[in-house]
Amino acid sequence: MQVNDISREKSAELYEKAKTYFPGGVNSPVRAFKSVYGTPLFIEKGDGSHIWDADGNEFIDFCCSWGPLILGHNNAAVREKVTEVMQKGMSFGAPTALENELAELILSNNSFIEKIRFVSSGTEAVMSAIRLARGYTKRDKILKFEGCYHGHSDSLLVKAGSGLVTFGETSSAGVPKSFADETIVVALNDKRAIQEAFEKFEGQIAAVIIEPVPANNGLLLQTKGYLQYLRDVCTDNGTMLIFDEVISGFRVGFEGAAGYYDIQPDIITYGKIIGGGLPVGAYGASAEIMDHISPVGSVYQAGTLSGNPVAMAAGIAQITELLKPGFYNDLKLKTEGFVKAIQDFAEQRNYNFKVFTIGSIFWFAFTNEERIATADDIDPESMIKFKTMHRELINRGIYLGPSGYEVGFISAAHTANDLEITKTAIFDSLDIVFSN
Ligand code: PMP
Repeated sequence: MQVNDISREKSAELYEKAKTYFPGGVNSPVRAFKSVYGTPLFIEKGDGSHIWDADGNEFIDFCCSWGPLILGHNNAAVREKVTEVMQKGMSFGAPTALENELAELILSNNSFIEKIRFVSSGTEAVMSAIRLARGYTKRDKILKFEGCYHGHSDSLLVKAGSGLVTFGETSSAGVPKSFADETIVVALNDKRAIQEAFEKFEGQIAAVIIEPVPANNGLLLQTKGYLQYLRDVCTDNGTMLIFDEVISGFRVGFEGAAGYYDIQPDIITYGKIIGGGLPVGAYGASAEIMDHISPVGSVYQAGTLSGNPVAMAAGIAQITELLKPGFYNDLKLKTEGFVKAIQDFAEQRNYNFKVFTIGSIFWFAFTNEERIATADDIDPESMIKFKTMHRELINRGIYLGPSGYEVGFISAAHTANDLEITKTAIFDSLDIVFSN
């Protein structure tokens, strides 16, 4: 069934204004809708699984603010706790009991970290974790993977050079080459590249950092065996293994990917869900490792708004909900049913389309492959199909993140009815994508 394009008049007007204020009209690049159809939608309101744009269009939202909103928009428990705490002031730059409360909720239910430090974004969490690893090991180099994103700090805006193991090349202007020289970049799912890197840079690698559930360049699921291999290599070489769980933390289970795969990293970074939609990041490790951080240790790290009471309140309210029995199982079952129905439909129709999934994360891939484990396995041409799909879904009231490399999220607020409506919209959109 063909449908008309939704009206984007007000969004377009706001976007024109925004372009006079912000580079590209946005405060974070992906929001500019560069790889999908039309002007970016300016969002006015969210409630449960739904969002409304400036033109009054209503959508079922699967972007969920890029992951933090595991309870959906405007969750009553989160809103009420934030409102209550706000009555007493917004920030003190001094310790508060709220920080203890959030730390207690997390640490007493997570066996992979003993101490934590709150910061204000995922980028900051990862940047600090890298510094901690370097300070702890007294080594400079780090190893990352092509296809993993770790925020926009200098050391991590680095992509693979040519060859199996090389110094990285900067992936942004403004990152000095000398910084990129400290970052080794290898492909995911490739043991030989890891071996070679550790031979070539013996005794120099402070940390291996990975998204244990790589979810920023498609969903490039790794095997437990491969993650365990990284654990073992790191242990053998005195290198720290950092799990960047900014997406997977509190998402694939309360203990994130560390718990899911039962692998003990040396440092774990968190963001998104931990702050209930407010700006919070965190990094955690054993007490022994964490005590290398200032003021007790020599690794400096600080923040004016770190542990901000309003943000802590949102985190406390959200994390409390996640600890209720059955929370993750319900979410997983809901996602499994949704994904299976779409996968079955694509198979019946013989479409080159797969849905990759873990926990309540899903990724739509226009491919025939049963498994996609490296960034190179993604055909850039397939993004043209995603662009059509995105437009068709927007026109049918379904909001996905505006890039085919981004994953979608199911929240506790998505109802069975939401998912039924979404499935129908997806089936219709796929029919259109594959009829072209
Ligand atoms: N690490 C990972 C795995 C992420 O997904 C992100 C953000 N998408 C970051 C780090 C950076 O977090 P932030 O955008 O909060 O700085």
